[in-house]
Amino acid sequence: MKYDRIWNFNPGPAAVPLEVLEQVHESWFNLNRSGMNVMEMSHRSKEYEAIHNRAKELIKQLLGFGNNYHVLFLQGGASLQFAMMPMNFLNGKTADYIHTGSWAGKAIKEAKLFGTVNLAFDGKPVNFNRLPRQDELKLTPGAAYVHLTSNETIGGIQFHSFPDTKGVPIVADMSSDILSRRFDPTPFGLIYAGAQKNLGPSGVTLVVMRDDFYKTAREGLATMLSYKTHDDENSLYNTPNTFGIFFMCKVLEWVTGLGGMVEMERRNREKADTLYNFIDGSGGFYRGTAEKESRSWMNACLRIPSEELEAKFISEAKTAGFIGLKGHRSVGGIRVSMYNAVPIDAIRDLIGFMKSFQAKNG
Ligand SMILES: *Cc1c(COP(=O)(O)O)cnc(C)c1O
Repeated sequence: MKYDRIWNFNPGPAAVPLEVLEQVHESWFNLNRSGMNVMEMSHRSKEYEAIHNRAKELIKQLLGFGNNYHVLFLQGGASLQFAMMPMNFLNGKTADYIHTGSWAGKAIKEAKLFGTVNLAFDGKPVNFNRLPRQDELKLTPGAAYVHLTSNETIGGIQFHSFPDTKGVPIVADMSSDILSRRFDPTPFGLIYAGAQKNLGPSGVTLVVMRDDFYKTAREGLATMLSYKTHDDENSLYNTPNTFGIFFMCKVLEWVTGLGGMVEMERRNREKADTLYNFIDGSGGFYRGTAEKESRSWMNACLRIPSEELEAKFISEAKTAGFIGLKGHRSVGGIRVSMYNAVPIDAIRDLIGFMKSFQAKNG
């Protein structure tokens, strides 16, 4: 393969599009005849500001956020948002949380520091192998928001349609599936996502807030922990991750050039269908851990008959040029992460490997 690259199924940080790497490489010593790398520019310069604002615009265009949405680029990862969001919006009130796995659990832990958390659904009794049905949700009338994790990266389950929250704004951690498919932004009050799965490098956190929800934020917080500070200053109150935002801008241009979210969604559906169809047709040798309707298009979690075979699979896969397939240490097994930058050819080649592994060990 070009540059001797391998098929990278890392869960995050994860593969980025080769075309983007090439463009960033080209710009390394002299971006747009500035004589500098973007990292060497002032974050207050016209040149940098154009990149910053272009990234914002592309997010809005690609995901269909109208002018009533505010786009921020913050730091601290999705993990800081677990606390910063309730610090701004919970403020002693009650919020509903949908508990679907590891990441939702971390968000819940932080929210409890700032108000009352009602578990609208607890997936623990079903081993977090599926999402709630609408009629299972115990929603609180007048809740400040309903929090959900659109894709549980570790458990491999994903919302394929979002719940009806009866007008209560949805707050979503979309770290591992933003930009992977289309969705209607209307019910969302706030969306946050660490960049390192689908958007680019780690160190940038995207936050998108709907204006009417944003207006319910409390005041009097520490400067850096208040969304208002960042919104008032176009995410330039302090020095942002300028390189990360530049890189993200290139990723957004790549997605736009391919045909935007329609094409991204087509690709991701095709990859997931191809892999899951193979798993389901493997006569039980490969077994998906999530219920079918909740299966993630981004992270497919599977088991094979024994833990010894799983270890052998991961090690032989690595030798054959497929990396990042080990399940998270909390759940074990095998996880195939197939974010936007992973092409269908990677899935086809992996299936070829899986077939021969089964033939030898099945
Ligand atoms: C990776 C991930 C996180 C953690 O993001 P950080 O940027 O490392 O804080 C949170 N939520 C989900 C769903 C993730 O996939």
